[in-house]
Amino acid sequence: MLVAKKKDDRFNGVGERISRIIKIVFGQSKLLQEPVAGFIHFIIFWGFIIFLFAVVEAIIQGFYSPFSFHFLGPLYPLITSVSDIFGVLVILSVLIALLRRFIFKVPRLQLEKASQLDAVVILLLILFIVVSMYGQNATSLAIHGTQENEVKPISAALGNIFFGSSVSSSTAFTVFWWIHIILIFTFLNYLPYSKHLHVLASVPNVYFANLDSIRNSLKPIDLEDEESEFFGAADIEHFSWKQILDGYSCTECGRCDSVCPANTVGKTLSPRNILINIRKRTADKAPLLVQGKIEGEQFEKTLVHDYVEDKVLWQCTTCMSCVQECPVMIEHVDSIVDMRRDLVLSESVFPQNLNNVFKSIETNFTPWAFNQADRANWAEGLGIKTMSEDKNGDILFWVGCAGSFDDRYKKVSQALAKLMQKANIDFRILGTEEKCNGDTARRLGNEYLAQMMMKENIETLNNYGVKKIVTACPHCFHSLKNEYKQFGGNYEVLHHTQLIDEITNDGRIKIKEEQKKEKVTYHDSCYLGRYNEVFESPRESLKKISSFNYVEMPRNKSKGFCCGAGGGRMFLEDEEGGKINIERTKEALDTGTDNIASACPFCMTMLTDGVKHFEKSEEVKVKDVAEIVLENSN
Ligand code: SF4
Ligand code: SF4
Repeated sequence: MLVAKKKDDRFNGVGERISRIIKIVFGQSKLLQEPVAGFIHFIIFWGFIIFLFAVVEAIIQGFYSPFSFHFLGPLYPLITSVSDIFGVLVILSVLIALLRRFIFKVPRLQLEKASQLDAVVILLLILFIVVSMYGQNATSLAIHGTQENEVKPISAALGNIFFGSSVSSSTAFTVFWWIHIILIFTFLNYLPYSKHLHVLASVPNVYFANLDSIRNSLKPIDLEDEESEFFGAADIEHFSWKQILDGYSCTECGRCDSVCPANTVGKTLSPRNILINIRKRTADKAPLLVQGKIEGEQFEKTLVHDYVEDKVLWQCTTCMSCVQECPVMIEHVDSIVDMRRDLVLSESVFPQNLNNVFKSIETNFTPWAFNQADRANWAEGLGIKTMSEDKNGDILFWVGCAGSFDDRYKKVSQALAKLMQKANIDFRILGTEEKCNGDTARRLGNEYLAQMMMKENIETLNNYGVKKIVTACPHCFHSLKNEYKQFGGNYEVLHHTQLIDEITNDGRIKIKEEQKKEKVTYHDSCYLGRYNEVFESPRESLKKISSFNYVEMPRNKSKGFCCGAGGGRMFLEDEEGGKINIERTKEALDTGTDNIASACPFCMTMLTDGVKHFEKSEEVKVKDVAEIVLENSN
C-alpha cells in the first residue's frame, strides 16, 4: 500500500534547486544566521566531507597497507593538511557543542532524555573518531615517517611528542586503526536509527523544498475529486512524500521552537515536536502499511489526536517563522493546515466559536456578523465610485472585511482613500460585491468555504476585467496576489504601503516639514513581511515623516514577531499560556516609542489591545501607516 498518497510534484526548477543545495547545504547559509551554532555546524559538516578521503584511505589500508591517495599529486598535500588541521577545529566544535547543551543549557537544545542521549552519543562518536584519527596518523608517521606528498603537521607533532622514541608504535598504530574503523562503522550503523538521519535526509529535503516557500501559498485540495475519502491529513498516508521526508529531516535543533510565538509565550505548540511526531508515527505505521496490513493496535490510532494534540494545531498563527528559520527547509505550516483541514472537513471537530465564524463567512461574506449591505458604508460622503457605477478606474481598492466593517479600520480605509484622491489616483471599489477574501477560512482548515469565497470573488473581478488591485490588508494582499492564481485570478496586487511609498517618492503626496517631536516604531505583519518580503516600503514612508524619529524593535523584518492574530487566531480564544500580542507590545513599548505603526487590521487590533493592557493608551498611539502619512502630508 502506498504510504504517502497526496501528490506533490517537486521536480521542476532543477537549476534553482541545485543552487539552493550549494548555498544552504554546502554554504550552510541558514545555519550561519546564528553565528556561534552556525560556525560549529559548519566546521563539523565540512570536517566530515574532508575526512571522507582519510576514512576511505584508512579502510583500504586495512586490506592493503601501503595504499594512499598520494597519486592525486598536488591535491594530496592539500587534502592531508586541511583534514589534519580541520581535526582540531572539529574537536573544539564538538566540545563547544557539548558545553552549549549541558553547561550553558541553551534553551532550544534542552530536549527530552532520549533525544539528549542521542545527541551525546553522536557528538562523542565524532569526537573519538577524530581523536583516533590523530592517534592513527601520529603512530603511522612515527613508524614510517612522512610519505610522498603527505602534509600532516598536527599529527606529526603529536607523533613526535607521544611516540617519537617508542618501540611500540606499530602496536599503537594497529590499536588506533581498529578503534578508528570500529567507531566509523558504529557511527554509520547508528545514524539511520538516530535523529542524525537528517545528515542523509536533509540534503534531498533542501533540494525538494517548495521553490516558493517564503511566499508560502497553501496548496489547494481538489474538492471535486469523487474518489477522495479524506480531505486534509488525519494520518501519514494522507500526507505527501515530502511531508514524510520533512519528518525524517528534522535535526531537532529547536530553531523553530525558539522563534515560534505560541511556544515563546508558553503554549504547548512546538513545531519541532510536530515534526518529531510525524517521524514517530511514520516509523510506527508505515512498515505495517507497506506490508499491506490494515488492522491492529496501530490502526486504532491516528497522527491527529494520538500523536499531535488538536489544541496545538489551533495554537498556530501560521506566522511562518518556523519555516523561515528551519535550516533544512521543513514546511511546518502546510502540515499543520492539512491536519486542521482534516479536523474541519473530515471530522467536524474544531473549537466551537469557529462555527459562528464559518457561518458568518458563508452567509454574510465576512467572518464577523455584519450585514453585507453595509459593506461600503465607510465610503459615504467620500465620492468614491464603485465598479458597477463605472469600471474604468486605474486601480481597484480592495477594502477587505476589517476595512469595511471594523470601526477602527474603517478610518484606515478612509485615510487611504483620501491619500489616493490627493494623489489623483483614479480608483474604484467593489462595494457590496466584495466578499471575504477566504484567507481566514483557508488557514482555519475550511478549504471548502475558502474556495467558495475565492471563486466568487474571482468571478466578480474577472467580469470587470480587473488588472490592478491595492489593499490595506496583508491577508487580502497575500491571497489575491499569490493564491487567487490557483483558481484563475491573476492580478497585479499592491499593498497600500507600497503605493504610499510610491506616491510619497514621486511627489504626488508631499510631506510637511516639521521639527522632530516623537518616536515611531513599525511592527511587521507576517503576511506582508515574511510571506511577501515587503519590509522597506512601510519603513521608508515612516522615515519620510520629518516630525518622527524612527526606532526599530529588536525582532524586525524577516525576524519580526507575530501579533498573534494570523491563521484565524483572530477568532480564537487564548486558552493556554500567555498572549502573543502582549509579548509583542512589550517589545514595542520597550523602545520608548510614542507611536506604533502597523499596516494590517489584525495587527492593529492586537497591538491596540496590548497597549491597553499596559495602560499606555494615553501615551502611545497605534496607527496605520496610511493615517500617519495622511496626517503629515500637505
Ligand atoms: S507558523 Fe508560527 S505559530 Fe505556527 S508553528 Fe510556525 S512559528 Fe509557531
Ligand atoms: S523543524 Fe527545522 S528548525 Fe525545527 S527542530 Fe527540526 S530542523 Fe530544527
